Amino acid sequence: MPSVIRDLHERLLRRETTAEGLLDQSLAAIRDKDETLHSFLHVAEDTARAAARRADEEFQAGREELPLLAGIPCAIKDMICVAGLPATAGSRVLDGFVPPYDATVIERLKDHDAVIVGKTNLDEFAMGSSTEHSAFGPTRNPYDEALVPGGSSGGSAAAVAANLVPYALGTDTGGSIRQPASFCGVVGLKPTYGRVSRYGMIAFASSFDQAGPLTRTVEDAAIVYEAIAGEDPRDGTTLPGSVPSVRAALEAGVQGLRLGVPEEYFAEEGVDPNVARTVRHALGVLAGLGAEVREVSLPLTGVALAVYYILATAEASTNLARYDGVRFGRRVPGRTLDDVYRRTRGTGFGAEVKRRILLGTFALSAGYADQYYRKAAAVRQAIAREYAQAFETVDILLSPATPEVAFRIGEKLQDPLRMYASDILSVPMNVAGAPALVVPCGSVDGLPVGLQIIAPLGREDLLFRVGAAYERRRSETEGKKDP
Ligand code: GLN
Repeated sequence: MPSVIRDLHERLLRRETTAEGLLDQSLAAIRDKDETLHSFLHVAEDTARAAARRADEEFQAGREELPLLAGIPCAIKDMICVAGLPATAGSRVLDGFVPPYDATVIERLKDHDAVIVGKTNLDEFAMGSSTEHSAFGPTRNPYDEALVPGGSSGGSAAAVAANLVPYALGTDTGGSIRQPASFCGVVGLKPTYGRVSRYGMIAFASSFDQAGPLTRTVEDAAIVYEAIAGEDPRDGTTLPGSVPSVRAALEAGVQGLRLGVPEEYFAEEGVDPNVARTVRHALGVLAGLGAEVREVSLPLTGVALAVYYILATAEASTNLARYDGVRFGRRVPGRTLDDVYRRTRGTGFGAEVKRRILLGTFALSAGYADQYYRKAAAVRQAIAREYAQAFETVDILLSPATPEVAFRIGEKLQDPLRMYASDILSVPMNVAGAPALVVPCGSVDGLPVGLQIIAPLGREDLLFRVGAAYERRRSETEGKKDP
C-alpha cells in the first residue's frame, strides 16, 4: 500500500495542498466524527496552526530536502509531554498540569516540522486494554461504536483508523500500541526496549515502556520510527550508537527468511479459532512469497502474563508515588500532610490505578518481595533467554496480535483478569524487550484482525521486511476496507 505520509509529502512539494490545508482537513474530520469517537482529549488548534504556517513557509521557500513529516498533522497519546499543552495521562490526578518541556520524541517530531494536532485519549496511566479506564470517558471503535478501540493507546488508534490524522504516537508497556492497532485495523510498532527515548514520557513501568507509531501503512510506521528513534543522553536506558535504517528493508521481500510460528500463541486459552485461522492464512501468504514457515515452541509463554503483572505493577507503584498533591496537578487540601496525600490520591486516581498500586506495593513488600518480585524478575530473564534461543533457528516469529477481535464497551470492565488476558499475546515481547509490529491481516465478523511480527532485539529491519512484503501482497489481492 502506498505510504500516506509520502503521498501527502509529494502533494505538498507539488503545491497541490498546504500544511494549513491538511490541518484544516484534520480539524474538520475531528469536528465531524470525534464527538462520537472521543479519540482526542485536547485539540491544540492554535499551536498546530502556527506549526503548519511555519512548514508552509519552508515549502514556499523551496527549501531542499524537507523532512517527510514536514507539515503533516499527527496526534500524540496523552502519556507523552508536549510543552505548553495539558498532559493528563487520562487521570484526574494530573488536573491542571501543563509540562514546561517536550519529550524527546516530541522534540524530534518538531525537528521534522511535524504538526501536532492534539493529545489522544487513553486508559488512566496507560493501564488497560480498552480505553475504558480513562477518567474522561471511553473512546469508541471506528468500525463499530458499541465496541472498544482497544487500549491503552485507544485514542491514537481510533484517530488514525477514522482518518482524523495520518499518524499518531502511542506507548506500549504490555501491548498498548499493538492491541489497539489490531482492534482498529491499523499498523502499530513497539520498538526494541531502549530504541526510543522515554524522556518526557509519563512513566508507568519503566523497564517495559516504549513509545511508537500507529499508522495506516507499514512504510508510514518506518518513517515515523526513524524520526523518533535513537540514543538520548537524557535517557540512560537508550541503546547507544546510530539507528540502523529500516527503509531499505521495505523492498527486500521475504524470500529465504525463516518464519517461526510458536504453537503456544495459537493455543493459549481464549484465542478465538477464527482469529487463529485468519492469521494462519497470512502465514500461507508469506510462505507463498518464498518464506520458510516452521513451527517452534515457547513453553514459558503461559507465565509471561503473571510475570508482567507482578513487575509492571511493582514499577508502577513506585513511579506513581510522585503524585502526592505537592509536585504535579491536583491538590486536595487537608489538615496534615498525610491527609493531603490521602485525599489527593484517593480522589485523583481511578479504581484500576489503585488496584495496580496495591498489587505492586504488595509484590514489593517485606516478606513477599522474594516470593513475588524477585521470582518474577528471574523468570523474566528465562523468558528473554527462551526468545534468544528461538531466534537461533528462525529469523522472525509470527502470531495473532490479540486473542480475539474488538469486544463490547462494558464487557470486561467488571472482570480485571479477563481484561488482563486481552494482552496475553503482546506482553511477552515487553517482558523480553523485543520489537514487534502489528499489520492488519483480514477480519472476523467484519472486525479487523492483526498479524503480529516479532524480531530479535534491535532488528526492526526484519519487522519491516516481513510487514511490507505481506502488506504489498495483501493490497494486490484483497484491498483494504475502511471504517
Ligand atoms: N493492557 C496492559 C496493562 O493494562 C498493557 C498496557 C500498556 O501497554 N500500557 O497493563
